Amino acid sequence: MTRKRIVAGNWKMNTDLQDGYTLMKEIVSNVHVEDLDKCEVMIFPPYIHLKTFINTINGSGLVLGAQNCHYEESGAYTGEVSVPMLKSVPVEAVILGHSERRQYFNETNETVGLKAEAVTRNGLIAIACCGETLEQRKADQHFDVVAAQVNEVIAKVEAGNTDKLVIAYEPVWAIGTGVTASAEQAQEMHAHIRSLLEVRYGAAIANEIRILYGGSVKPANAEELFGQPDIDGGLIGGASLKASDFLNIIRA
Ligand code: PEP
Repeated sequence: MTRKRIVAGNWKMNTDLQDGYTLMKEIVSNVHVEDLDKCEVMIFPPYIHLKTFINTINGSGLVLGAQNCHYEESGAYTGEVSVPMLKSVPVEAVILGHSERRQYFNETNETVGLKAEAVTRNGLIAIACCGETLEQRKADQHFDVVAAQVNEVIAKVEAGNTDKLVIAYEPVWAIGTGVTASAEQAQEMHAHIRSLLEVRYGAAIANEIRILYGGSVKPANAEELFGQPDIDGGLIGGASLKASDFLNIIRA
């Protein structure tokens, strides 16, 4: 098993170009080679920052990614950005199906699956998000909800492209709330997700796919979460906007 950890920063709709540039510079100049030996570091700023950030990130070993994309290659889809467009920047990764996109922009399991197929087929890394709401957890539906989300993605991603697939488990009740899933709750769901991957791709591939945890990860709780056997790193929202917090999470 050779799963290299990932720490990914999702900036969401935060920072104008100038503030974003300052933050990016601070992260790039303080990430150490030893950090990157153990962990892939990915940054997902707003779309308009991407082209500028390519020069900042160049040679640093960090991965630059986008927060969304369309599954079609081109055409009459006003306001959308395609995978080939992202590739031409070039960015290397895309977050898909974040719960905020599901909640506010009608993202469905089906569209997330189509996007995951397009991203991985084009050779970019897809970080496909899944996670249940508090109501669903209280109703004991969380395993089924996450299974439906993940199965739609893995049904569409070819076994030959799974080196480009990353799953992020982000319980909706933990995102931006300060409430983190316990290490046991997170590990239990990650093991469930890995069992779904095994059914689809077999054990060897399932053991290579990285599964990230997201939801109020901070320097203080990162070590315990990342110490779980099926947790391969984190997708970080709020704490990725403060360079010192983000760097401390990387070191955890
Ligand atoms: C996220 O939005 O992916 C996230 C995990 O946010 P936060 O870390 O702020 O909970």
